[in-house]
Amino acid sequence: MKAHRSPALPLLAALLCVVCGPFAGRGNVAAAQAAGAANPAVPDRIFTNGKVLTVDEEFSVAEAIAVAGERVLAVGSDAEILTLADPATETIDLAGRTVVPGRMPHHLHFARAARDWYRHVRLDGVTSRDAALALIAERASVLPDGEWVLVIGGWNFAQFGADALPFTLAELDRTLPDPALYIQEGYRRGFANSAALRAGGIGTGSSYDGPGTLVRDAAGNPTGELVGPAMNLVTAAIPDVPAEVWNASLDAAIADMHGMGLTGVYDVGGNGVTPQYYDALRRAADAGDLTMRVFYSLNGQHGIGSSADEIVAALSSRTPDLTGLRFAQFGWGETTYPPMRATPWQISAEELANYEAIALTAAEHGWQLHEHSLRDVKVRTLLDVFEAVNAVRPIGDLRWTIAHTNGMSPESIERANALGAVFAAHSSSRLATPEAIARGASTPPFRTIHESGGTWGLGSDATTVASPNPFHNIGWVVSGLSPAGEPILSETVPREAALTAHTRTNAWLLLREDDLGSIEAGKLADFVVLDRDYMSVPEDEIKDLRAVMTVVGGAVVWMATERETSE
Ligand SMILES: [Zn+2]
Repeated sequence: MKAHRSPALPLLAALLCVVCGPFAGRGNVAAAQAAGAANPAVPDRIFTNGKVLTVDEEFSVAEAIAVAGERVLAVGSDAEILTLADPATETIDLAGRTVVPGRMPHHLHFARAARDWYRHVRLDGVTSRDAALALIAERASVLPDGEWVLVIGGWNFAQFGADALPFTLAELDRTLPDPALYIQEGYRRGFANSAALRAGGIGTGSSYDGPGTLVRDAAGNPTGELVGPAMNLVTAAIPDVPAEVWNASLDAAIADMHGMGLTGVYDVGGNGVTPQYYDALRRAADAGDLTMRVFYSLNGQHGIGSSADEIVAALSSRTPDLTGLRFAQFGWGETTYPPMRATPWQISAEELANYEAIALTAAEHGWQLHEHSLRDVKVRTLLDVFEAVNAVRPIGDLRWTIAHTNGMSPESIERANALGAVFAAHSSSRLATPEAIARGASTPPFRTIHESGGTWGLGSDATTVASPNPFHNIGWVVSGLSPAGEPILSETVPREAALTAHTRTNAWLLLREDDLGSIEAGKLADFVVLDRDYMSVPEDEIKDLRAVMTVVGGAVVWMATERETSE
């Protein structure tokens, strides 16, 4: 399997002491030995001297992990685990560092982001305007001539503190006179430099009557700002990605996301996504090169068609992959039936009957549904349908998922719990400002769901509406603070609950709890070594935690460089 930045192994030796050789000990070693008394499995690799947050049911903490092949052989004290070693066993001294299970966001628009990730600059968590512009110039300096530079979501101006005025055309042209630069703030507005405006056919005399707004200065000249649908004037001009670049771009996305501590993702399609987007993934998986576990949902973007009949036919003729652990498809969403995405929320009786027929077919064929919902009025309708289907074919074993959960009421949470439905709660409103919250922007009721005993996973809905970095999202749910440090979330939860939601419970949502989600004997060895201790850093610094090493299936797939660990 391919490893990203593995040439850093000497650094690994510097960071974490690597030695080989036999040792003696007890504890769940006994279980391991009892399990294989005749021939106890011998670990290829032992990680010792760590603070291993196993995130098992007891949220127990261990010192060491023994790995055999792709799986965890045992966890326990250093003394216990080292008894399993033989002369060929590699031992890695974690130097007291904290280890957490790999994070697997349960709703991330991965395939869409990976397609042209190489063009993207991420400003997630960047709190200096100058640093942001410097990152943009740096990216341009490494791209081929004429290649666009893009910043698509996951940030907002508030994170620049007092320096939060919109980008000006002069500023962007100074940063990047050429090639084209396009910066988007969520789905709200975009900023283009002159080269991007030219590519979009926008000049001083251009007329544009909407939809959305092409912002102009007092002299009537475009300022580079495009609001709402006017963004399409420039995004439509972004060149397509040459097929031969897709896999390189995918590799870049995977390396960066491993660097954030991600070991798996659940991709839910997204606007503009087509079946071609999954070709690069399939090629990498078939070549045994896919280090990221990629699960993905089916939806209209897979060439299935979007009429109720076409969806029912596809549900009946395909089978969910309930066992694949590298590249697998087992559910539908985030919009199984397009009319269920209406904004404002309204649906005809016929469309509702269609959705009920689709949902029943999904249940009868063992499919998980993962449905987009940003308002309680929509959730109530979803639950009406889920209850109707449940009366015919109980759905408790299918883990039907309500995604986003913003503004969900306690009554809807109770109804969902009664059905065995689960919650994919997201951090997209982490980028909301206190003013927006005061105006009624809704956030997920994390604490209410948690205290109701509901099964909830934590994710982001990245990469446009949120940061894909799990520490940003976990830090927000624990501290309630925006990237600028303003209190915007009252429904916070304890750090154990937040970490569990982003690891073991997400594995549950992905129907892979026997193999993933915690560091326990028998499970796949997917974990992340951190630069500081998740359990003791101040809550408002959880967002700044970094991975120094990421392990997938027992293999080191990502290492921090010297520069990254020193920053
Ligand atoms: Zn989404």
